[in-house]
Amino acid sequence: MTRLLIVGPPGAGKGTQSTLISEELGIVAISTGDIFRANIKGQTELGKEAQKYVDAGELVPDSVTNRMVEDRLTWEDAKDGFLLDGYPRNRTQVSAMDEILARLGVELDVVLELTADREELISRLVKRAETDGRTDDNEDVIRHRLEVFDSETAPMIEEYRQRGLLKQVDGLGSVEDVNARIMQAIKSS
Ligand code: AMP
Repeated sequence: MTRLLIVGPPGAGKGTQSTLISEELGIVAISTGDIFRANIKGQTELGKEAQKYVDAGELVPDSVTNRMVEDRLTWEDAKDGFLLDGYPRNRTQVSAMDEILARLGVELDVVLELTADREELISRLVKRAETDGRTDDNEDVIRHRLEVFDSETAPMIEEYRQRGLLKQVDGLGSVEDVNARIMQAIKSS
């Protein structure tokens, strides 16, 4: 297992689990949200372009995001494998991802979907707002990010289900329990 995506709604635990999976599989974890946040913090050109979208809980335009991901996947550390967290986020990005992978001459092994019910997601996000200080973790923006997930991201996950690449994992429970389920799902795929 060397090329994986992890998808799921905001608050499902993708970031936490990505770190663990990347350590266990010895591959780099790449989070598009983290890249945007780092660029916003450093006020780079990319950060300035992305900031208003991230703060509003909107998707950063596909043209910007696709270019950024393609660039990142050509780095040396991603040559033998990667775990991509937070991309693709809509159907247009799925097509872009297909093209990127074709150009790199590689294929995806598995798409992990972390699931959790709405109430659990909101309570985790509210808790995270208190500890992490993310500008997009306030109530209105949280609600909007969940709407964007439902309207744009859920349909793209369906696309991967139809391709037979999807493994759903229950994201409820302790970090260790969820991680054990994920590793089991990876083994069985
Ligand atoms: P995340 O850390 O994955 O929750 O992402 C935080 C924010 O970064 C999102 O609400 C978007 O504004 C932006 N973002 C992350 N990944 C993408 C993506 N694949 N496409 C567009 N915007 C993204």
